[in-house]
Amino acid sequence: MIDQLLHGNVGFVTGEFKPNAEYYGSIAAQQRPKVLWIGCSDSRVSEDVITGSKPGTMFVHRNVANIVAFNDVNVSAILEYAMVHLRIEDIVVCGHTRCGGIAAIEDGVRENYIADWLCIATGAKEAADRIAQERGLSREQKLEVLTEENVKLQIKHLKNLALIKNMLATGPLPRIHGWLYRVETGTIDVIIDGRQAAASPGLTALA
Ligand SMILES: [Zn+2]
Repeated sequence: MIDQLLHGNVGFVTGEFKPNAEYYGSIAAQQRPKVLWIGCSDSRVSEDVITGSKPGTMFVHRNVANIVAFNDVNVSAILEYAMVHLRIEDIVVCGHTRCGGIAAIEDGVRENYIADWLCIATGAKEAADRIAQERGLSREQKLEVLTEENVKLQIKHLKNLALIKNMLATGPLPRIHGWLYRVETGTIDVIIDGRQAAASPGLTALA
């Protein structure tokens, strides 16, 4: 597999990098990403590939189940760099179907660190439990609802971090978007459209 990766790099250099030398030269001088992507570590959810983006488009933070934790110095440092230095205006929190982290939230998990981490999404499970009971959902339907509720919860966490809270108190930025990527079809559903929220600050405040 490692040989395949290095061989793939040779193909990237000849097929993509060299034919677009001007673009890659410009981002080599300085990156100017337009979006901060907060996604899952899952190998099937490669943000550049699934959005048809070139390197240089997105600043990226990925972890198990695309979680935003208030005490995670990693995500805080990434947010500060993205907002203060890169002046990124859009943040995408993207969950995905068939997520192992989401299934572990639903089923419970024995491993200590994974359980501690997924604890941060407990509120999403409570909401999904309620919705599944009301609507009589199948397991697969419920996991999808839980994935969506988790994206909404992590956006709530994001908005509660002091850096983002202070920014949103004084203006419409950053626009925060919640997406669901479907690994079965390759398509993205918009759960929360940050463009609309930014246009209606009153509604954002109520959310
Ligand atoms: Zn996942």
